[in-house]
Amino acid sequence: YWVRILAALEKKINRQSYETWLKPTRFSHLEGKKLFVRIPSADFQHIGDRYADLIQEAIDNLGLDVETVVFTTPEQDPRAPKVREDGGFAPVPSHSQNAPKQSRQGALTNGVAQAGPMPEQSRFDWNTASQLNPKYLFDAFVVGSGNQFATAAAQAVAERPSKAYNPLFLYGGVGMGKTHLMQAIGHDVKRRQGHASICYVSGEKFTNEMIDCVRYQKMTSFRDKFRTVDVLLIDDIQFLAGKERTQEEFFHTFNALHESMKQIVIASDRPPKELADFEDRLRSRFEWGLIADIQPPDLETKVAILQKKAESEQTALPTDVALFIASNVRTNVRELEGALVRLIAWCSMHGVEITLAVAQQCLKQFIDTQVRKITIETIQRTVAENFGMRVAELKQKNNSRQIVVPRQIAMYLAKQLTEASLPEIGRQFGGKHHTTVMHSIAKIDEQRRADKDLNRTINKMMETLS
Ligand code: ADP
Ligand code: MG
Repeated sequence: YWVRILAALEKKINRQSYETWLKPTRFSHLEGKKLFVRIPSADFQHIGDRYADLIQEAIDNLGLDVETVVFTTPEQDPRAPKVREDGGFAPVPSHSQNAPKQSRQGALTNGVAQAGPMPEQSRFDWNTASQLNPKYLFDAFVVGSGNQFATAAAQAVAERPSKAYNPLFLYGGVGMGKTHLMQAIGHDVKRRQGHASICYVSGEKFTNEMIDCVRYQKMTSFRDKFRTVDVLLIDDIQFLAGKERTQEEFFHTFNALHESMKQIVIASDRPPKELADFEDRLRSRFEWGLIADIQPPDLETKVAILQKKAESEQTALPTDVALFIASNVRTNVRELEGALVRLIAWCSMHGVEITLAVAQQCLKQFIDTQVRKITIETIQRTVAENFGMRVAELKQKNNSRQIVVPRQIAMYLAKQLTEASLPEIGRQFGGKHHTTVMHSIAKIDEQRRADKDLNRTINKMMETLS
């Protein structure tokens, strides 16, 4: 069963995530309609949540008679998984106040996660404090030059919610610690004021809940939920781009909270003024408080993050190994952690100590995939996505400014990041002459020096691509 599900997942998930998180998993056994899957360590438990939809989709497509997928670590006796009294991984009983929370924690502590269709009730999980990851504390966050300002701002907000900066707008690239930092605010406020109600929600979840509530005519409870919290942490706000109705709802949520002096913290992958397809009135509100960016960590910070993480795993990490990982994994902290988790899992499976030689061997593939060849297609996809357009538009004969600039940027990136010749680049952009390509590249090269925003956009795409 699991092998077939894995085969289906492999096609849908990027190779690195697959290699790191899914490949080390093994089929354990079946108990009725419960499929038990072995994971190497507790670090893998999040795959139940993260890939729930894809796993469900694979189960459906393969027509498997599986209702629940349960992930267990070797420590947990796989043949007799501890099922909690409340059912642990069983579907959440409806009308039970704290059931969603227990089931969620079950997913964390018992290594049990649900892949089955979520019962109606849990989609309206009002018990939002349980949505904070218990690991995302200020104490666990390593402060370095790239995140110093954002951390200080977050701490100020946690100490004096709604009085320091409201809203606090955090932005930065993928895996830079935005989610960690914003949840740390939640934990810290909760610690100081036990009664405070904290709501952490991603832009995506906010959108989906709103759509559900519209569909099931529960808008009143939707509004009650979001407009009555003391601290609203809304993550990945860029997801609301182009979603007018959701933006409108969020606008009112924002106003209601701000007027009643409740704290709002927003995280985004880009600064407010670069949020395309956002209403101006929202964008301007995002600038009311403080905007803090998080820059990629430098080498020392990366080493410190690895050491802290190893410490929390009670694993000794030699400095040369930490340096090796830190200098080979680029800037994304999530990948940095992924490499370490992989190394720890590998060493414990093979019963060897962590040494530089072992790390080089074990992480070879991981690091290789990081320097995988960038193709013109991936560049086109990234650029198109960034500008909210279709790849086909980059190749069309259309000379409107909205299209020309992204196309020139994509050509420029193709020249910088691939080995392709000018005529080859021209071909891949709908048959442009090589002199056109050359002209485009020169133009971007020049503008990039003069225009800081453009420069940042290009840097960000380069970072995404590599
Ligand atoms: P983002 O939301 O910006 O994509 P996350 O907050 O999800 O990034 O961070 C990715 C992972 O890296 C998390 O596990 C987080 O705990 C860790 N992380 C990021 N920055 C730091 C840091 N400065 N110190 C410790 N852990 C960090
Ligand atoms: Mg995040």
